[in-house]
Amino acid sequence: MIGVGDMVLLEPLTEESFINNLKNRFDHSEIYTYIGSVVISLNPYRPLPIYTADKVEEYRNRNFYELSPHIYALADEAYRSLRDQDKDQCILITGESGAGKTEASKLVMSYVAAVCGKGQEVNKVKEQLLQSNPVLEAFGNAKTVRNDNSSRFGKYMDIEFDFKGDPLGGVISNYLLEKSRVVKQPRGERNFHIFYQLLSGASEDTLKKLKLDRDLSKYNYLSLDSAAVNGLDDAANFRTVRNAMQIVGFMEDEVQSVLELVAAILKLGNIEFKPESRVNGFDESRVKDKNDLKEMCELLGIEQSALERAFSFRTVEARLDKVSTTLNVAQAQTKVRKKVMGVLDIYGFEIFEDNSFEQFIINYCNEKLQQIFIELTLREEQEEYVREGIEWTNIEYFNNAIICDLIENNQNGILAMLDEECLRPGTVTDETFLDKLNTICADHQHFESRLSKNSKFLTDHTLPHNCFRIQHYAGKVLYRVEGFVDKNNDLLYRDLSQVMFKANHSLMKLLFPEGNPNKVNLKRPPTAGFQFRASVGTLMKNLLTKNPNYIRCIKPNDKKAAHIFTESLVCHQVRYLGLMENVRVRRAGYAFRQAYEPCLERYKMLCKQTWPHWKGPAREGVEVLLTDLQIPNEEFSYGRSKIFIRNPRTLFTLENKRAQC
Ligand code: ADP
Ligand code: MG
Repeated sequence: MIGVGDMVLLEPLTEESFINNLKNRFDHSEIYTYIGSVVISLNPYRPLPIYTADKVEEYRNRNFYELSPHIYALADEAYRSLRDQDKDQCILITGESGAGKTEASKLVMSYVAAVCGKGQEVNKVKEQLLQSNPVLEAFGNAKTVRNDNSSRFGKYMDIEFDFKGDPLGGVISNYLLEKSRVVKQPRGERNFHIFYQLLSGASEDTLKKLKLDRDLSKYNYLSLDSAAVNGLDDAANFRTVRNAMQIVGFMEDEVQSVLELVAAILKLGNIEFKPESRVNGFDESRVKDKNDLKEMCELLGIEQSALERAFSFRTVEARLDKVSTTLNVAQAQTKVRKKVMGVLDIYGFEIFEDNSFEQFIINYCNEKLQQIFIELTLREEQEEYVREGIEWTNIEYFNNAIICDLIENNQNGILAMLDEECLRPGTVTDETFLDKLNTICADHQHFESRLSKNSKFLTDHTLPHNCFRIQHYAGKVLYRVEGFVDKNNDLLYRDLSQVMFKANHSLMKLLFPEGNPNKVNLKRPPTAGFQFRASVGTLMKNLLTKNPNYIRCIKPNDKKAAHIFTESLVCHQVRYLGLMENVRVRRAGYAFRQAYEPCLERYKMLCKQTWPHWKGPAREGVEVLLTDLQIPNEEFSYGRSKIFIRNPRTLFTLENKRAQC
């Protein structure tokens, strides 16, 4: 064993020794380290030979602490608890962009697929579950400065199992795709993979049908400087994606429709507008060169004159709503209770130079996930000791509930104020929104504006005038308000959605239901912020009903490079992820606990006095049992209803004895 595999056993425990241990292990290709049952994962940025079929066999049906730390151990533990103890599980994967979350989620899924049920039907379901990844990534991932395959949407997948633990299907929920990327990408970044895949991977014939040119430089939406990405084979990936779409269940004509839509978006990006003066003194926008417009309309079966009219009357900036796909491969809708394993891979905390509405939403989501972590591992744990009457000294930790409240409070939270501003009659601009924030939040401990008087984290007094700053649990972020109102409104002018709905193309009716003229809906659609807050709320409720398993991903350097461990960077992540507090709580506490009855039931065979029947109260039976086995006293505490075991290794001893019986 290199270094210490479980931080709980680290002596002495300091931030320095913690980081050194991570570094030592990382230098020896040991990227996984435990804090009790939490898995810390460091991104190696190179393929490691630790995900083979042999490894899967090695970890299969073994106790969590028996082998050296591995993500497979966590996946195995979660799967077995689900199958044998009927406890729904969730796997929560957190960490910043590029830390390895998406890879981790795929490793968990492939492990579970490898060890659960066999047979033709089951294998088909497994294939579908696994192949949903390339499809989602093609349409939702892009190269960014931080990650060549960055997920630009959040993903939560519930994998459903029957009573035997065989997979039945899955339900995937997507959260807030960063759709502004379709139109515009920051320097050095790309659009979503699918555009490049299609252009480099499709046959001449397909391209011709789609009226496309292989040359990337022909399209305004594809930034040129970053088109080629090292180690990314767009053409090969196109074939993978097409194949995956088929496995997941797209019919051939559906694949075709999707590709037509992708092509149409590229055409749309090439349409340019020119102003045309009108007698009333206003400018009206007119399409400059009509060829792209014509081809786009042909691809989607849209009446060209109608679209032109819609463009000219209301809008100068064309954008499509809803390019996200929700795949649902759920099968067998039986009434039998399903067991569920949820895998959450959601965008990590982001701090850019220029942070906009998207980063604000992403970071809010990360605050909520941190809340769940605090609730379940720090607070809940400590409260249980109090409930059970176990002697306990509280461990201090930072509770970020106050930041969540700043953002989501119904009355004066930032999202509520943004909504209020968006719905207010009169002239609404990003500046009026900022004015409102400045007055209402100025005194909040975690908010900084130009009006803040006694802000606790003021780093400089030169806050740019169109910005506000939030002290998040993971760091300070400066948000520029430009675009907040627009992005939150997320409105597509009615005349445009109506033209889209009328298109003679199977997908368009699905994508623009609001354009249905027979369904005049006078109610305003909910804002983007409102929808997001609601779906995050639902997600949190769902997660809290499940048994959580944590993977905390850490990015070792910001060069996307192998073998480099930048201490300051790792240290920052260890701090804001609250990992030291996590170890302290674990150390002060007990790794394992069980109610007296099931505990006695499981181990009573190890002692003559408790076997085969113990007549007294279960608690006394457990005392007799443990005394007889000569387990040291300091290893246990007797709670009101449960026995608490300090060291997981004690549990092995018991399990081993049991296995030898
Ligand atoms: P995130 O989802 O956290 O933004 P990813 O999971 O996409 O990050 O990881 C970024 C890149 O790092 C991957 O594309 C891959 O090249 C590399 N990587 C991540 N985890 C591993 C791993 N376990 N083994 C090898 N390479 C990895
Ligand atoms: Mg990702």
